[in-house]
Amino acid sequence: MFQTTAAIKRIKTESAFEVLAKAQKLSEEGRSIINLGIGQPDFKTPPHVVEAAIKALRDGHHGYTPANGIPALRECVAADVAGRLEIEVNPDHVIVVPGGKVTMFFAILMFGEAGAEILYPNPGFPIYESVIAYSGATPVPIPLLEENGFAFSAEDVLARITPKTRLIILNSPANPTGGATPASEVEKLAAGLTEHPDIAILSDEIYSRMLYDGQEHVSLLQFPEIRDRIILLDGWSKTYAMTGWRMGYGVWPEALVERATRLAINCHSCVNAAAQFAGIAALEGPQDAVDEMMAAFQTRRGVIHQAANGIMGMSCVMPTGAFYAFPNITGTGFTAKELEARLLEEAGVATVAGTSFGSFGEGYIRLSYANSLKNISEAMNRIREFVERNGKAEA
Ligand code: PLP
Repeated sequence: MFQTTAAIKRIKTESAFEVLAKAQKLSEEGRSIINLGIGQPDFKTPPHVVEAAIKALRDGHHGYTPANGIPALRECVAADVAGRLEIEVNPDHVIVVPGGKVTMFFAILMFGEAGAEILYPNPGFPIYESVIAYSGATPVPIPLLEENGFAFSAEDVLARITPKTRLIILNSPANPTGGATPASEVEKLAAGLTEHPDIAILSDEIYSRMLYDGQEHVSLLQFPEIRDRIILLDGWSKTYAMTGWRMGYGVWPEALVERATRLAINCHSCVNAAAQFAGIAALEGPQDAVDEMMAAFQTRRGVIHQAANGIMGMSCVMPTGAFYAFPNITGTGFTAKELEARLLEEAGVATVAGTSFGSFGEGYIRLSYANSLKNISEAMNRIREFVERNGKAEA
């Protein structure tokens, strides 16, 4: 039979996609399933963005583009990041890629090999650990704790650095917890990292525009003392409801731009040309759709948070960003995987077990509130009834 590499056997998957497939299958069989497992906005891409892609196709933009993205788009990204973070961004450091994931993949492949260590958030986006393992490097988890509102602690991150550490991955606002790290902690981390000048940092800020209660996003790019080591990951997927378009970007340190561009040339040549024009329209056009979506998420966040806290054996910290709640379920007596499976099968609600995001996710489930208020309320009722009927907790 085939002789595949040892590396490919180490690669894992993103269980949210498996939950989605199972939920879809059950729906097709006629079951009523409410999906709180999904990691994408339930909104449509704004119409002016769609029109820009159609126009680009009609105008004949059918060929390859430069591997790092069309210059007008890179200028637009640089201006957007610069404007939001009040820093200078060189468009030549921007590399547009097919989705946020690709910047992650490139960064990890660039630093990961046997003998190297890469720090990553746990619970966190599952692809970090998977690709680190694939690269041959050792994944070193940074535990994200409920008592810190699931923000990372600078002290915890710095304490895990060894001479083998090459890359640190951070994510705020975070998937799956909805936690965002406060400015004071980011400042502390930036100061501590000045002691480790050879370590690169991948800052996954794909939820940077998704913060609540008027909170301002703090980016690691805003700290000049470490700026030349930051790989910023962001994109259009979440902010503009464009997950299927596959549009993301990285702002790379000058020293890595050429290497990342070569990876792009080796991997995908360039991003879909028409989608790049849509990317310009999204950044340059009216932002009302983003504001409306965030207003809807803010209302739903309140509803899901309150409902989760009303369920026997569950408690939920208020999420500060993204569109996920991450309730503690230890009081229900179920493990995360058990609850995920039984809620889907018996209550008709798709959720994702905390352990799908790493071992520190045991005792939690992820609830996405990218669904209508009506569906969220109905789903939370179903969960409450299921737990009341089947929960192993003492009343
Ligand atoms: N980073 C985080 C933290 C995410 O949650 C996701 C998607 O869920 C991504 C990156 C990947 O985004 P994209 O769909 O643009 O590849």
